[in-house]
Amino acid sequence: WTDPMSEKTIFQRIIDGEEDADILHEDDRCVAFRDINPEAPTHILIVPRKPIPSLDDLDTEDKDLVGHLFVVARELAQEEGLRDGYRTVINCGDDGGQSVWHLHLHLLGGRRMSWPPG
Ligand code: 5GP
Repeated sequence: WTDPMSEKTIFQRIIDGEEDADILHEDDRCVAFRDINPEAPTHILIVPRKPIPSLDDLDTEDKDLVGHLFVVARELAQEEGLRDGYRTVINCGDDGGQSVWHLHLHLLGGRRMSWPPG
């Protein structure tokens, strides 16, 4: 019997090199890789190494880390050539549509987005 809460998330396994991913960026604070089920021509996930389950678990001490995720998103958007714009999203909790319980920033681009999301 294993406690499901103690099992690693898929993102933790990618960070730990136990699961393959198309990694585009790595530094001491985060890893970025392509989403396995892309919703747009560019769909990248920027994931902090620190295993914060969701935005709801964010501490004040994490504010620089979150800022860093957005700077990496902007760099990746430039590398991907998203000159006409892009979208960043953090889904939080069940109602927010979160499915992996390790905080991550979505970077989506390469097509026209609609608003509001469904
Ligand atoms: P959420 O719904 O939690 O905001 O986003 C989770 C995202 O992770 C989804 O867009 C989903 O396609 C992506 N994802 C789930 N499993 C894997 C995986 O094994 N590899 C990669 N690269 N992305 C994954």
